[in-house]
Amino acid sequence: MVMAESTEPLARILVVEDELDTAEVICDLLTNAGYEATSVESGEEALQYISRNYDLVVLDIKLPDMSGLEVLRRARSESYDQPMIILSGYGTGSDRVVALEDGADDYLSKPFSPEELVARIRAIRRRIEWSPRPPTRLVVRQLELDIARRIAFVRGQRVNLTPIEYAILAQLMRNAGHVVTHEELSRSVWGENFGSDYRILRVNISRLRQKIEEKDREPTYIITVPNVGYYIPLAR
Ligand code: CA
Repeated sequence: MVMAESTEPLARILVVEDELDTAEVICDLLTNAGYEATSVESGEEALQYISRNYDLVVLDIKLPDMSGLEVLRRARSESYDQPMIILSGYGTGSDRVVALEDGADDYLSKPFSPEELVARIRAIRRRIEWSPRPPTRLVVRQLELDIARRIAFVRGQRVNLTPIEYAILAQLMRNAGHVVTHEELSRSVWGENFGSDYRILRVNISRLRQKIEEKDREPTYIITVPNVGYYIPLAR
């Protein structure tokens, strides 16, 4: 039996490099290796493109408008979690630690052999494909959390939650259909040192209800179990 060869690219890769010759060499190489490669020349463009669907980013450290490390930090602070490989300037190795600490997945010093870059990309892709992927969306009835970006939607509308409110809601949604006790909920949000005063929890629950319930006095999502905790019913 002859299997038709897939025409789907292995992955979409964004190449951020202002030296056009280098960018072209890298893109040709990636295309030949079966990847779909797009190149941009500045940090600002990179940040616009990273927010679209790229599986991996190859990021030169020296860009005309900002450092590649700045692009890396800003992308990570926006919760873009694609793997990123930093390309350093010629003969400088000192940025390596900084890059890795700032969330780069790998680091290559110029000059590098094109094969080396492809080998690093393959290694990163294998690591990702083999590790279990955490869920990126959590949906319970009309509540939806975009976990990567920490955004909540209620009946399709985005709602602005504080980090604490988000953490409480996420914990209740992960356990939807089961009661989460005051203690479990507090521990998951505030850690071990929460004490046993649940007043702050109650205040936050009350604010959450105002934001997500149609009538916050008659909640259908966050239900109180007196003296025990709260739960979100799977069905109304
Ligand atoms: Ca450059």
